[in-house]
Amino acid sequence: MSQVRLEQITKSFGSVTVIPPLDLEIADREFVVLVGPSGCGKTTTLRMIAGLETASSGTVRIGERDVTDLRPGLRNCSMVFQNYALYPHMTVAENIGYGMKVRGTSKADIEKSVAEAARILNLGAYLNRKPSALSGGQRQRVAIGRAIVRQPDVFLFDEPLSNLDAKLRIEMRTEIKLLHRRLQTTAVYVTHDQVEAMTMADRVVVMNQGRIEQAADPITLYEAPSNLFVAAFIGAPSMNFVEGVLERGDGGLWFKADGGVAVKIPDTRAKRLDAFVGQAVVLGIRPEHTMSSEADAPRLTLQVRDIEPLGPHTLALGKVGKATFTGQIHAASPVRPDDTIEVPIEAQKMHFFLKQTGMAIR
Ligand code: ATP
Repeated sequence: MSQVRLEQITKSFGSVTVIPPLDLEIADREFVVLVGPSGCGKTTTLRMIAGLETASSGTVRIGERDVTDLRPGLRNCSMVFQNYALYPHMTVAENIGYGMKVRGTSKADIEKSVAEAARILNLGAYLNRKPSALSGGQRQRVAIGRAIVRQPDVFLFDEPLSNLDAKLRIEMRTEIKLLHRRLQTTAVYVTHDQVEAMTMADRVVVMNQGRIEQAADPITLYEAPSNLFVAAFIGAPSMNFVEGVLERGDGGLWFKADGGVAVKIPDTRAKRLDAFVGQAVVLGIRPEHTMSSEADAPRLTLQVRDIEPLGPHTLALGKVGKATFTGQIHAASPVRPDDTIEVPIEAQKMHFFLKQTGMAIR
């Protein structure tokens, strides 16, 4: 069993605390992605698992072992870095087998492992090449191959696809997922790209300023973000936010905001929200939820500033009341910049957050 457990770990650099006490449990065989904006502490957390960074306090466990004070080589983790970290003077085969050679593995066993890794990663044709004669994607596959042959308890990935172009990134994303499905090794993967996180992870850990904002499977994060930070971070284009208040009136509960915004809350949602009447709240609605076909869908008035045709649909960018707002409209829609349109929103997809704390109201 190679679950990873971080118990109350902290990290300070000098007087600056970048990770306040943090708890995280990663199950055996799970693929967990740490995601968050630059500087939120993802890499530091990963490096504390690897042992490349010492935790200032707290405990790191891998399986049943307390590895907090173990040096990296004894933790049985393999790390794949953004910059590949290949030895330029060695061939692909030598790069993949190097760790085994250092540990005194027999030549025959190294060759066997290298051949198997090369087969899995489609590197068979390149085994005698030097890294300089490989593409970025091939180099990253060599780096992954080197990680595989160690048969680690845990794979650690630190933004491994950042140096690849967009198309290759998508291909490698799939390759790493398939690899995980095949090897079933516990994996912790760091990225700042929320799409990468959502598409690869069993569970996504959203971090902000060294803290975990929410840890959940991708769909839960998308459908039920627990606060404004997660709501804004997950999803592209981002969720729209309109600040206003909840009011009782005209046949039920209403969300009202400056600029004449008035949204009737469906009865199914009103019961829970009723407790927050009079309080400042934020309505969140994703751009993809502005094309309701329900006859009684709440409508928002969008002053269009620009349109972005994307093929399957078009984005209308502008303002709802005073809030910046992006709505999805039909590709064939004749809407032009400076038009004012009514967008029907999916009432069941509305999110509400308390303005003061940012927490979701459910
Ligand atoms: P990015 O996506 O930009 O790589 P990250 O989320 O991985 O960011 P970390 O690299 O973990 O963030 O850094 C977290 C914080 O710790 C940052 O504010 C960073 O400046 C700081 N930090 C990291 N390493 C050191 C160090 N060796 N000395 C001082 N501060 C550091």
